[in-house]
Amino acid sequence: MKDTYKHKGQRQRLVSLLIKAGITDTRVLKAIGKVPRHLFVEGVFADAAYENKALPIKEGQTISQPFTVAFQSQLLGAKPNMKVLEIGTGSAYQAAILCEMGLRVFSIEINEQLHQEAKLRLENLSYEVQLHLADGSIGWQRYQPYDAILVTAASPNIPLSLKRQLGIGGKMVIPVGNKELQYMTVVTRLAKNEYKSQTHQAFKFVPLRGKHGFKT
Ligand code: SAH
Repeated sequence: MKDTYKHKGQRQRLVSLLIKAGITDTRVLKAIGKVPRHLFVEGVFADAAYENKALPIKEGQTISQPFTVAFQSQLLGAKPNMKVLEIGTGSAYQAAILCEMGLRVFSIEINEQLHQEAKLRLENLSYEVQLHLADGSIGWQRYQPYDAILVTAASPNIPLSLKRQLGIGGKMVIPVGNKELQYMTVVTRLAKNEYKSQTHQAFKFVPLRGKHGFKT
């Protein structure tokens, strides 16, 4: 499937809707206006790609609602070239948005099929992202420290291993709660052993698995 003028128009409408919903970061809005979301969802759902809805991807997972992607991206306080680690590659739409925002993106996925498909999709669209098939609840030691960490699955708590992979001044954006409801939380590393956290509105994500995820 190609990217057409019709898709571009639909994206502009989505951007207007996100502005009305309170998204102000121009870097985020520009990226949403550019990334062809219809190429990240399953064929039958492509027609709904520019509605403000979460949609199913393979393996029982979902691509987050555009507002959620925009809200999390905005909370990162992105600056050009910032190094960001995403936990939960999924369709790789969020990773593509971070790329378009001018960030250096690292992304981990625990499911092999999703990881492989994300890899192909990003290559086809010429997005450069370092992808890793692993349990992201323990982070990715190799490239730490990160300026930002973005968790796109529901977490029962804030894993210490992830906090420790933030650079000083770095921020982690993570939905924390039970399986039904999570509050978007921003954790900032102020000094080696000092963190502050701020809580925002509630969302519903698919559960984080792995060592620090939900057990059942
Ligand atoms: N950011 C994605 C949506 C994520 S859905 C997008 O833009 O499409 C959450 C994803 O997190 C799922 O693909 C799920 O397989 C993955 N996931 C769950 N637990 C994980 C873990 N411990 N490490 C890495 N990925 C995980």
